[in-house]
Amino acid sequence: MRRPIVVGNWKMNLNHREATYCVQKLAWILRDANFDYRTCDVVVLPPFTSIRSVQVLAEADNLKIAYGAQAVAATSQGAFTGDVSADMLAALDCSYVIVGHSERRKYHPEDDATLVDETRAILTAGMHPILCVGESYDERKQGIELEYAVGQVNDVTRDLSDDEVSRMLIAYEPVWAIGTGMVANSQTAQDAAHAIREHLASSFSTEVAERVRILYGGSVNSKNASQLMTQAKDMDGFLVGGASLDPDEFSAIVRLTQ
Ligand code: PEP
Repeated sequence: MRRPIVVGNWKMNLNHREATYCVQKLAWILRDANFDYRTCDVVVLPPFTSIRSVQVLAEADNLKIAYGAQAVAATSQGAFTGDVSADMLAALDCSYVIVGHSERRKYHPEDDATLVDETRAILTAGMHPILCVGESYDERKQGIELEYAVGQVNDVTRDLSDDEVSRMLIAYEPVWAIGTGMVANSQTAQDAAHAIREHLASSFSTEVAERVRILYGGSVNSKNASQLMTQAKDMDGFLVGGASLDPDEFSAIVRLTQ
């Protein structure tokens, strides 16, 4: 059985003080609601500059909210100005790191080999990569959305071992749905999650395909999450952008998984 997971991608929002307040408020709301963390992993991905503050809070208050980063360098150390390594993130007790988010693909283009190196660096440091894939509106218009998303999964995973792939998460995030308010319907999300799972089964094994958690991302909020959660059977949770910045809204999405 795969455990549901809801991940908040804060993008370039919330400085370290705001981040502390946001996580604290999220924890309070979930505690007051008697939320059972054994039923769903709750994760936030702050900007790099806020991760240490979240770590300090998590240690001091013994929080069960996990956290991680939105990107990572492919290399482990050295003359790479502005980069942050997987070991640095692991030393901050990060558990999850995004690879290949469409905003990174657009503004900081990286080739597939670099995405593979980032994925390996995250795994080697003991964390879980969240690989983002998904078609643009153009690919959807051409009717090639499933091939496109599955192709992106294949590009990054094909040289990885069964063990490496089983520790990954895959987020299906159609680019046309990110930050636009145009959420995919549950059939669209299910079709993509199913195609990705079938691909993992045929390229690796059914055990691997059964282990990998597949998320949907793109304009998720507390109003549309419930239908997606109940009707897209191959989906195990959400990657939430905008709505994760509001602890009331994010906690409402989290609680829908129960
Ligand atoms: C995202 O960027 O990962 C995302 C899902 O954004 P939003 O929820 O704001 O569409």
